[in-house]
Amino acid sequence: MRQSPYDWLESSLDAIHRANWHRSVKPLLGKAGPVIEREGQTLLNFGSNDYLGLAGDERLAQAAIAAIQTYGTGSTGSRLMTGHRMLHDQLEHAIAHLKQTEAAIVFSSGYLANLGTVSALVGKRDLILADQYNHSSLKQGAILSGATVIEYRHCDLANLQQQLSNQRANFRRCLIVTDSVFSMDGDLCPLPPLLDLAETYQAMVLVDEAHATGVFGQTGAGCVEHWGCTGRPLVQVGTLSKALGSLGGYVAGSATLIDFLRNRAPGWIYTTGLAPADTAAALAAVQVIQQEPQRRDRLWQIVDALRQNLQSSYPTLPEGFQWLPSQSPILCFQVDRPATALHLSQTLQSLGVFIPAVRPPTVPTSRLRITLMATHTPAQVEQLANALKKVMKCYRQQGI
Ligand SMILES: *Cc1c(COP(=O)(O)O)cnc(C)c1O
Repeated sequence: MRQSPYDWLESSLDAIHRANWHRSVKPLLGKAGPVIEREGQTLLNFGSNDYLGLAGDERLAQAAIAAIQTYGTGSTGSRLMTGHRMLHDQLEHAIAHLKQTEAAIVFSSGYLANLGTVSALVGKRDLILADQYNHSSLKQGAILSGATVIEYRHCDLANLQQQLSNQRANFRRCLIVTDSVFSMDGDLCPLPPLLDLAETYQAMVLVDEAHATGVFGQTGAGCVEHWGCTGRPLVQVGTLSKALGSLGGYVAGSATLIDFLRNRAPGWIYTTGLAPADTAAALAAVQVIQQEPQRRDRLWQIVDALRQNLQSSYPTLPEGFQWLPSQSPILCFQVDRPATALHLSQTLQSLGVFIPAVRPPTVPTSRLRITLMATHTPAQVEQLANALKKVMKCYRQQGI
């Protein structure tokens, strides 16, 4: 039989299956929240990025509905053509106010905000120094930019300094790029000393606040606020799709930076403006974040409750298992093999608890990624801890 030029797809998929890396989608039924329905089962949801429980909040829904009724469903063009509404201005002002920056700009997604911003800020004659565990969108943005990319060891500022001192002088501009909360580990970038280093070596800094906005800081502005770095010169990127419960991304910084991006970021210029419903929902969320600090307090109480429960009565871990150091509502449990992660996730699901397995190539080592929400109850957290203990005990007794 004649070969098709697409045959390689099947053999490539076979290889993905053999490595236990294959992924597929399963629909969730019902509204976003701490309890979900999946594959005919009611489950406690410990896999969502909806940290404040706003994706199912009635106020966001009403804001989105009102925006659709006023403006329609689509924004009909790019922001520079027919796609700009007052709502976009309002949201951008609200983000700048939250972040205490001069200005902000909204993109269609956080992914696009990172692609667009990194590739607009540096080019062929420039250097990007990037944390090795940065999010995919930052890595792809770096490739797209055409700059020389050097990764430094995860959160290792001595290593970063070494690279700066060896390399900085060979390049025109330099951009240091890092997540502020690492999405698949749950630890934090030590921002103040990183900004000091950047200052010393005349480097720009881009920090991705995707998992920090709404979660960290007195007013919910993120890790930049948490670390007392508000007002320092840097480029802050984030998403409207996690704690803000909507869809879209943003960049916050100086008025000059934002004006530059409006003129030089193709991922903003040549794409349709954020839909009215998403824009209005995000705007409502920024208001809730500022008016209801108790949501953030609740979230951190839930995080503390789980940590204490696990510390006080946790069985010795089986060989090859390990909790990763976390300083956020993301707690990751590392295991030796992808198949183990999948099996643990399935066993937990049979106990009524949803925790996704994260495997290569997303992460170097497989893990279960637990995320907590302000709307989880202490009883639900206890159920989670009990399920984890049960699974660990079985694993130790019989292996899986
Ligand atoms: C989720 C995420 C993004 C992408 O944001 P979206 O709005 O979902 O496209 C970017 N960076 C990090 C660190 C993320 O976790």
